[in-house]
Amino acid sequence: MNPTEPTKRPTDAAHLDDEPPSLPTELLNLPWIDGHNHAHTLSWDDRERYALSGCEGMVMVASGYHWTPYKPVEADDVRYLWDDAVNRRAAIEQNHFFTPRLGLGIHTGVRIENPDELLDAMDDYCALDEVVAVGETGVTPSQHAESWEVDEQRAVVQAQMEIADDHGLPVILHTPNRSGGSGGRSYRPRLGIPGYEKNTTLGQRPVITGENPALESVKIDVEAARDAGLDETRVVASHADQNNTDYLMRETDCYLSFTIGHSWLIGVDAADVADAIDEYGPERIMIDTDCANVLRTDPYAIKRAIFELYRYGIEPDAIRRVVLENPREVYGFSG
Ligand SMILES: [Zn+2]
Repeated sequence: MNPTEPTKRPTDAAHLDDEPPSLPTELLNLPWIDGHNHAHTLSWDDRERYALSGCEGMVMVASGYHWTPYKPVEADDVRYLWDDAVNRRAAIEQNHFFTPRLGLGIHTGVRIENPDELLDAMDDYCALDEVVAVGETGVTPSQHAESWEVDEQRAVVQAQMEIADDHGLPVILHTPNRSGGSGGRSYRPRLGIPGYEKNTTLGQRPVITGENPALESVKIDVEAARDAGLDETRVVASHADQNNTDYLMRETDCYLSFTIGHSWLIGVDAADVADAIDEYGPERIMIDTDCANVLRTDPYAIKRAIFELYRYGIEPDAIRRVVLENPREVYGFSG
C-alpha cells in the first residue's frame, strides 16, 4: 500500500500491483482496412466515423439487390449500382482522406433476368484502377423475390471468377451464415427483422436443401473457383462463421473475413475472430464491417475489435496482420 495515499480510507488504487500490466498503446493509432462494406450507401457522418477511428482504406462493394428498387431485377439495375459507386468514389476520398476502392459484382441473392449483359460489361470495369475486387457474389441457398436455380447461379459465379482471374483480382464471397443473433426467437410475421430493411415476406423457398445448405454453398463456390482456374488465395470468404471456418481453413487456401459490423444479426463478433486466430494463426484471417444503410451497422466495429482482440489475448502483431496487412496485400492497397 502506498504510504502517502491521501484518500480518507483505502481505495482500489491502494491495492494495485507495483508493476501494472503494460498496454500496447500502439493500438490506439493502428490504421486498419475494411475489406467489405457498402459505405457509399451510408451517410456522410458515418463515413466520417470511419476516418475518425483510423480507417486507412476500404472496399466499397456495389452488387447487392438491396439497392435495386424493381423486382424482378434486370442487368441494368445492377449496372446502375456499379456506376453510382464509380461516380462517387473520388468525392468520398476527397472528403474523408481514407482510400476507398471498389468491389463490383453480381449478387445471387435475387435472380437477375439477363446476367450475360453484366458479365459482358464487367471486363471493362475490372480494368479500372479503383476496382480491386469482384463481388460480393457466391451461390446462395435462397433468394429474395425470385428463386435462382443452383446451376445458373454457379455459372454466373464462375464466370465472374474467370473475369477476376483475367485481371488478377480477388473475389469476395458472401458466404451464407448459419449463426443467428436474436437468441433463437423469431419476430412477428410480416413485420420483418427490425434493423434490416427488406420485405422478408418475399423470401423464396431454398434451392439448396439438406443438412447444411450454408456450407454446401461455400463448397460449390470453391469448386467454381477451381474450375475457373482462380487461385484460392484470391478468394475471400466474407461472413465467415463457425459453420464454415474449419472447412475453409483445413481444405482450402481461401482467406476468411469475419463480418462484425452487425453482430446482432449474424452472431459473429471479435471472440470468433480470436478463436480462429488461436486455432489457425492470423495469416489468412481478416475482419470486415459490411456496414450498409439498409442495416443497423457499426462503422466503429473494426476499431472496437482491435482492442477486443487484445483483451481476448491476441498479440498486437497478429492484430495488425488481420486488420491491416492482410487486406493491404489481398486488395493491393499500398502501405
Ligand atoms: Zn455486403
